[in-house]
Amino acid sequence: MLSLYQAILSQHSRQLTPVRCADQTIAQLHRYFEDVVLENNLAALVVESLPLQVERSPRSAERVLKVGRAARHAFFFLAPEDAYNEMQFLGEVRDSMLLSRAQGGNNEHFVIIADARFSALLVSLSGQTEDGSETITESEVIWTFEPDIVYSALEYLMARVTAERFEQTEAFSQAVRTCMPKATSLQLTVSVTTKLARLLQEQAAREVAINRIASAIRSSLSLPSVLQTTVDEVGRALGVQLSGLHVEGENDQPPVMKCYFRDGDPTEEAHEALVNDLYAYHTQLARRLKHYVLDEQRGTTAQTEDETRPLAVVPLLYQARSMGVLLVCSDDPHRIWQENELLLLRTVADQVAVAVNHARLFTQMQQLALTDGLTGCVNRRSFEMQLERDLRLATRMRQPVSLIMLDIDHFKRVNDTYGHDAGDAALRFLADVLRDELRGVDTAARYGGEEFAVILPQAGLDGALIVAERLRSRLETTEVPGIGHITGSFGLATFPLHANSRDQLVGAADRALYEAKHAGRNRICTPPSEQTEVSDEMYGAPVDVSAHAEGDAAGLNSHAV
Ligand code: GH3
Ligand code: MG
Ligand code: MG
Repeated sequence: MLSLYQAILSQHSRQLTPVRCADQTIAQLHRYFEDVVLENNLAALVVESLPLQVERSPRSAERVLKVGRAARHAFFFLAPEDAYNEMQFLGEVRDSMLLSRAQGGNNEHFVIIADARFSALLVSLSGQTEDGSETITESEVIWTFEPDIVYSALEYLMARVTAERFEQTEAFSQAVRTCMPKATSLQLTVSVTTKLARLLQEQAAREVAINRIASAIRSSLSLPSVLQTTVDEVGRALGVQLSGLHVEGENDQPPVMKCYFRDGDPTEEAHEALVNDLYAYHTQLARRLKHYVLDEQRGTTAQTEDETRPLAVVPLLYQARSMGVLLVCSDDPHRIWQENELLLLRTVADQVAVAVNHARLFTQMQQLALTDGLTGCVNRRSFEMQLERDLRLATRMRQPVSLIMLDIDHFKRVNDTYGHDAGDAALRFLADVLRDELRGVDTAARYGGEEFAVILPQAGLDGALIVAERLRSRLETTEVPGIGHITGSFGLATFPLHANSRDQLVGAADRALYEAKHAGRNRICTPPSEQTEVSDEMYGAPVDVSAHAEGDAAGLNSHAV
């Protein structure tokens, strides 16, 4: 059998235009139609088909009861499994009855109002579509205030009742006869249409906001910009005074906060108040993992004295843990947060939680790809990129950069004597020494095996020699647990003193290291002194990062101890 939706649409295709809607909006549309009956004391016939629910709250039953009492006749089509069948409360309502719905009509939802002053019809049909791996529930809805169309819908339903529920035919057709849809009050129609138009416009704004946020998440790997787009779009879509996002920091990092203020830049106090609120709600919701809503309807539990404005806060949940909050606040004291607005906040919060997590995973992966697993130092690839960056900056700032290459002496013996694990522990020990002795701008890299490289930005030859000597003597004098003392050989070269390209600098330091080994180990060598003329031209020259080493290998300086 055809659904009412299909029957009416095919019969009046020229007068009706289906509109695609979110289910939340459709539920709201149905409430608006029922409100007309409740608010205008229409002695109408109301026929509703309710979508199947196997559990019903007393509050929703109360609503049906109210509609049933307000109408002169009320008929509700229900699926046999619907919880309302059990509740039997409709017996209290005169002339109302429950009718079994046709098989397969479970996804149809309609309300028909027939009265001498006002007639209306709203029918929606929900369907599921596949979008890649996602199943999307989307509904189409039609409505009209045309008495003729409303009457043809009633005729169709009369035929259906006759065919399916013969014993109720008489009562149903009697009700239709006494409440014939005739004219439609212009005033009522305009008021309902205005409400509908506003609802659909709001829905469109929400959809646009969600789309913009989703595309910001897809196209940007920069988390701060995604978070800013989110608060801006949510703020605009809900027309709130302000919105804010708090995302807790990882590994003792400070949290990230983003704010939107409708009226432009806020005062310092207003900004600080929002930041404090975000922090407080994050702490509070992290325990409950539930949203918190404050308005005239739910406003009995204000948490603080100045919490007088309507506000809604939802947690950013990821794997049953809260990583932050999304907050909106209105300056209209009578604002009631609608279900579909809360749904928007929850949808956005879920998207943001996933985006935050992806961004963090991405950073971790990047970190892993550039870090040496054994020592935690940067690896060779990362060292090369860092040296290139430091040399570029040094050229621009006309400053030196020094490079130390260091290699543990007789490390093979350490492995042979104490085992490979002890050798690994010695490498970690050396890495700790490097981290401990170096400045934040320096980079310690594991160049390969038991060879390390240290970049010292802004350090000239003399400064770098002091650092190298500190490292050398610390290695020599500190006992490596389980092994004893180890020593290292050091090769040091400085840009632009000894080289004017990345490869030349590495080559010069490497040759100096080789020289240190040859000269007896446990010492520091630098390239020959005849190259140590500071040339102004060298500072000005661009760093040729692709050039190959071709420096003079002869005559290195040994700084033996
Ligand atoms: P030299 O003073 O000439 O540098 O002597 P050496 O023994 O240190 O030099 P050689 O290059 O002959 O040996 C380096 C050793 O470092 C060989 C290798 O087993 C060891 N090695 C390299 N990578 C690792 C590592 O990740 N763990 C351990 N335990 N040993 C490593
Ligand atoms: Mg070695
Ligand atoms: Mg080696």
